Amino acid sequence: MFYNQTNELRSRASKLIELLPLEKRIPVAVEDLPGLLGINVDYSDSLPDEISGFFKRNGKGNTPVIVINSAHPKERGRFTLAHEIGHYLLHAQKAVTINTLHFRKRDSSLSLDLEEIEANQFAAELLMPYHLMISEITGSDLLNHDSVNKLTTKLSKKFLVSEQAMTFRIAKLFF
Ligand SMILES: [Zn+2]
Repeated sequence: MFYNQTNELRSRASKLIELLPLEKRIPVAVEDLPGLLGINVDYSDSLPDEISGFFKRNGKGNTPVIVINSAHPKERGRFTLAHEIGHYLLHAQKAVTINTLHFRKRDSSLSLDLEEIEANQFAAELLMPYHLMISEITGSDLLNHDSVNKLTTKLSKKFLVSEQAMTFRIAKLFF
């Protein structure tokens, strides 16, 4: 079963955010979520540069593990973490039989693989929640290039994501 439906991904992401206390929702404390889900996280600075991180469903002691490339910027690490949590929640059926390693490559935003697209969409919904985006953007002039740039910078800092991820999010939501 695939979840390539925006509403489904959006509601799964918002349910996850509701596990966090209010003061940890902006920016979303994505680092706290694996502990709540029973996933271990390792940070490694010795991964190849083209790998942002990966997810292994049955790591040590059969506990799922997410490994993040800590040599990459913090914002990227947060997106990768959200992306891999997406694989854990959305793509369970596969790894029961196959010991799948989900590698997130630096250019995975260009991926055509459905599971990669879903994990990226889930990460965007988790880190840049829909209703918050709408309320932030209401009243701003999206037809003015300069104002979109300023908004992108402001919101990427507020939600602790890269400007690239925020640009992509705004474009997908409003254009
Ligand atoms: Zn992936």
